[in-house]
Amino acid sequence: MKCPNCDSSLSSLEIIDDYGQNLKVDRCVSCESFWFNKNNLYQVPIQTGQKIDSPASRPGYSSSMRCPNDQTVLMEFKDSNLPSSIVMFRCSSCRGIFLPKGQLYAYKEYQKQRAMRGIELSRKASVGFSIAFLIFVFGLIATYSSEYFVKADPIIYQAYKPIFDHSKGVFWILAAVLFLLFMLCITVFYFRKNKIKFTIY
Ligand SMILES: [Zn+2]
Ligand SMILES: [Zn+2]
Repeated sequence: MKCPNCDSSLSSLEIIDDYGQNLKVDRCVSCESFWFNKNNLYQVPIQTGQKIDSPASRPGYSSSMRCPNDQTVLMEFKDSNLPSSIVMFRCSSCRGIFLPKGQLYAYKEYQKQRAMRGIELSRKASVGFSIAFLIFVFGLIATYSSEYFVKADPIIYQAYKPIFDHSKGVFWILAAVLFLLFMLCITVFYFRKNKIKFTIY
């Protein structure tokens, strides 16, 4: 296969993806651009991507590039989630992706920052939900213990019983919901942390 940018040869690099599988990516021997078949770009671990490419200033590239597989004209790939500083081209026919030198590094840096933000967000949410959960547990304890003391006087207790029952119901439901939210966030936190453990730390 020939490089869409400079027509030199593409050489195959074999890397290991996040799931331990072998993955082949193609790099131009001359301009050091990368070519990825289909979704291979997304399977390259962050750390590996930043090892095989290096940061570069905004790249120069040929104005009409064609897919090395099927000669379709490559179109610049735009996505609202993708920072405009990252330049990549896509083949509309085979969905291969071409990245000029430095863009693989930049794209993996963007993925790394996004992953870190996600981890930080789920960590903060876990702390927030656990505090809210503890507040409602405290509310439950307060309700049950005051009910216990009020029970000493049956007449007063009869008057206040609906309020106690209502409070207990509300506190139980809120505490259960917050506990579930806390568990969900902590699971997401550990899942995300483990997922990028191989690629960052
Ligand atoms: Zn090239
Ligand atoms: Zn193609």
